[in-house]
Order: sequence, then structure tokens, then C-alpha cells
Amino acid sequence: MEKKIDIKGLGLKELEEKLTSEGFQSFRARQIFHWLYQQKVSSFQKMTNLPKKLLSWLDFVFTIEQMKCIKILKSRDGSAKFLFQLNDDQLIESVLIRNKKRNTICISSQVGCLWNCLFCASGKGGFKRNLLTGEIVEQVLSVQRLTRENIHNIVFMGMGEPFNNYNNVMKSIQIINSKHGMDIGARKITISTCGIIPGIVKLTEYPMQIELSVSLHAADDKTRSALMPVNHKYPLKELVNTCKQYVRKKNRQVTFEYLMLKGMNDSVEQANKLSRLIMDFDVKVNLIIYNPIDNQTNLLPSGEEEIAIFQKILKENGVPVTIRYSKGQDINAACGQLRNGYIDYTW
Ligand code: SAH
Repeated sequence: MEKKIDIKGLGLKELEEKLTSEGFQSFRARQIFHWLYQQKVSSFQKMTNLPKKLLSWLDFVFTIEQMKCIKILKSRDGSAKFLFQLNDDQLIESVLIRNKKRNTICISSQVGCLWNCLFCASGKGGFKRNLLTGEIVEQVLSVQRLTRENIHNIVFMGMGEPFNNYNNVMKSIQIINSKHGMDIGARKITISTCGIIPGIVKLTEYPMQIELSVSLHAADDKTRSALMPVNHKYPLKELVNTCKQYVRKKNRQVTFEYLMLKGMNDSVEQANKLSRLIMDFDVKVNLIIYNPIDNQTNLLPSGEEEIAIFQKILKENGVPVTIRYSKGQDINAACGQLRNGYIDYTW
């Protein structure tokens, strides 16, 4: 017998096709979606409005996989980090960020990361594997089941590079966005990339209004390559031009993330360089306070004064800019800190 597959790996269309090819009616797929993503049931038997014959077929072909949550760390600021164990014992993390009445969940797209940015913990242990569609979706479901909180926004800013797992990430977004699935609007879903040009090009052609965030972190190739090895493959000018195309064709704004690192990328000159690079199209800059990840790098967060001056220059140059204060620092759940501190966990 073939191995059963996780039903959460299927988009609505795929499930409809599978059902009709077995002689079931296609509207059953919408009912199944409702049970999975709105009722969040853990077994087919709980899908009480489905015919017996369909239930036994579902049970025969599919499973409803759940991830084991082995640790929840709660931050003083209300956010919480969830450590999940996958079927092959790999570990991933998701973070719930509470902000007034809007909850955001920061989810992972890969186990580890290929790119090994100097400042980020996720790449330090190397790349292990892509997450399956079901594993991406299940992070949202698990956190909802565990906390009973509503989720309003989804950001792909956890572990991994979403554009290196394009197909599974996009399928998970379809499920999250579907009104029969989790029904979260496309504009409430953000993909953050370290600058994978082919991914941005594909997203430009993709018929959905998903938010795009690009981790820039430097305004010249030398600095960026020193911080982010991905810049050797996808250099700054090409990256920015690709973003320009995205903004022009999609008529959407791009957010550039810029990590403020003392003495590396936070000078007046670099603020002006950054402005010149991006001032002629619809962008927003998010200045990020660096969260130290270990003692191995000499990176330090910029001082308050440097950050204020940097922000002022961008503003004067007409570039919209905000400062992002990360949450969850006390539990290693802040940006770039995921995958940090496992050794401290006991389970
Ligand atoms: N691979 C994607 C998504 C993961 S990182 C990307 O690179 O965008 C999400 C954001 O956290 C990125 O902007 C990343 O640069 C930032 N980040 C990484 N390490 C950080 C650290 N130590 N402190 C603050 N932000 C960090």
C-alpha cells in the first residue's frame, strides 16, 4: 500500500480534482477545508457532514498530521515562541507576536537556511530541508489550537528563505488565504526574502496581492556581500531593479528591511547612498534594531543617536521610514534569533 499523505499538503483545487477522480462531488473539498482550517479538527471522523464512504476513503489515503509542540516560551512583552518537532525529529520555531488587538504569527519556511547571513542565527547550523506545505500551514493551526488566539497577520520571517521553497510556500499561502481555508487576506501575508531575484520575479507575475519585504541591510555591494553571502549571487543593483519592476508592474509598495549595525552600515554617507538607491520608487524602509545572536561575531547594534540620524536623513530625502523594535528578545524569539538557544531547552 502507498504511504498515506498529509491532507494539508493539498490546495483546494488539488483536493477537488482528487475527489472527483474518485467519483466524489467537488463541493466536498470545501467542506473538508472548513473542517481542517476553520474547525481545526484532528481526525476525519469528526467531519460529521461527510458520507461514510468518503470518510473511509479519506482515512485510507490521507492523514491529518500534527506537529509536536515541545516547548513554549512566553516573553514578558506578550509574544511567545513555539518549538515544534517534525516527523523526522527536525525542529522548527514559530513566534506569536501580540500587538494591541492584532496578532501576527511569524512562521518558518525551511529547517535551517542556505544563506548564512552574518547576523542571523537561522543559517548557523546549515540548511537541512524545505518544509512541506502541511508543515507550514500547521504552524498557524497549532499556535491557534494552543493559544485559542485569532491570527490576523502572517509573516514569513521565521527560519529559512521562503523563495528557496517557493512552491510549498505559495501553496500554503493559497490555503491560508482561501475563504474556505483560514480566510486571511493576501495583504495580511508578508513574504520576507534575503533577495532571491527569481523569487521576486515570480511573485511579480503571481496574481495575488501578497506583501513583499526585502532584507537589504546595506547600500553598497561591498558591505552587503560582507554581511550577506547571497549578495554574490544576486547583487544589489540587480536586486533593486527587480524590486522596481515589481512595484511598477504590481502597483504595490516594497518594504526594505535594514538592520542597523554599529560602524558597518549606519553612517551618514550610507544613509544618503541608501536614499539614492531607492528614492525613485514606492518603498518603505524598516530600520531594525540588531539583536545580538552569539559571541562569535563582532557585530553590535547601532546607538540610538546613529539610528535617529540615519532615520532623519532618509526622511529628508523623501524615503518613508519606520523603526522596528523586535519583540521577544528575552526568549530568543526576536528577529534572527530563531534556532538560538536550543541547548537550553529540556524535554
Ligand atoms: N530569509 C528571509 C526571512 C527570514 S529573516 C529574509 O532574509 O528576509 C527575517 C528578518 O529578520 C530579515 O530582515 C532578517 O534580515 C532579520 N534578522 C536576521 N537576523 C537578525 C538579528 N540578529 N537581529 C535583527 N534582525 C535580524
